Amino acid sequence: MKQHTLLAVLLAASAAALSNARAGEAPVGYTDTPMLPGGKWHVHDPDRPQPRLVKPGAKFSDLAPAPSDAIVLFDGTNLDKWNGPKGKPTWKIEDGFAEVTPKSGSINTKDEFGDFQLHLEFATPAEVKGDSQERGNSGVIIHGRYEVQVLDSYQNRTYADGTVGGLYGQFPPRANVARKPGEWQTYDIIFEAPQWEEGKLVKPAQVTVILNGVVLHHKQALLGYVVHHDLAKYGRPYSGKGPIQLQDHNNPMRFRNIWIRPLGEYDQQ
Ligand code: MG
Repeated sequence: MKQHTLLAVLLAASAAALSNARAGEAPVGYTDTPMLPGGKWHVHDPDRPQPRLVKPGAKFSDLAPAPSDAIVLFDGTNLDKWNGPKGKPTWKIEDGFAEVTPKSGSINTKDEFGDFQLHLEFATPAEVKGDSQERGNSGVIIHGRYEVQVLDSYQNRTYADGTVGGLYGQFPPRANVARKPGEWQTYDIIFEAPQWEEGKLVKPAQVTVILNGVVLHHKQALLGYVVHHDLAKYGRPYSGKGPIQLQDHNNPMRFRNIWIRPLGEYDQQ
């Protein structure tokens, strides 16, 4: 009897040790979340198929310079076009890039945009730390409401709808085209704002996402405003304009060469 008790204690102790070891790792998904439309997958479902691996082409240029009519949001020298939570951002500027100062807060463009073409480049930390969503996490949060995920997805399993290039919590990217940690990667994002008539959504937001030269979403209608661990939905109607937000997710991510070309009413004169 005593031996059995001792065995039970030992088993419990080793199970606790195992769960403690795992407690340090970020979860690779959730099943206690609502189902997405289609009824097949939960939000952040760990069993949703992983995006297939595609190796992006070799870089033909280190930078994609802004066209003449673009609004340059960050040229590598200052964040004057951006606001942090307390005014001037405190992200570090160095060698032509801005680096997230962890826990200093996300930054937003001072200007608001409706429909647009956005280009930016990012690098996840060369020194790999953390797992799943805790590794090289940031995001391009359009209008402060729709997140195009930024993550170190190089040999880093996480839920499919949280992979780099994913529309967070909604649509996984068509492929995982992550470059290695520390390497510069390029985003080109074309966005069409949602429209409401008399408080009723008549056109959802649509987004086309190209990461490292590979199309991951094309005119994808978004389910709503980004949310973690829940089903996205459109909240209160707004003007259809908003800032570009770069997320501080507590990782020292780097950004450079950010420019935007407003579309729609601006180019139809
Ligand atoms: Mg993120």
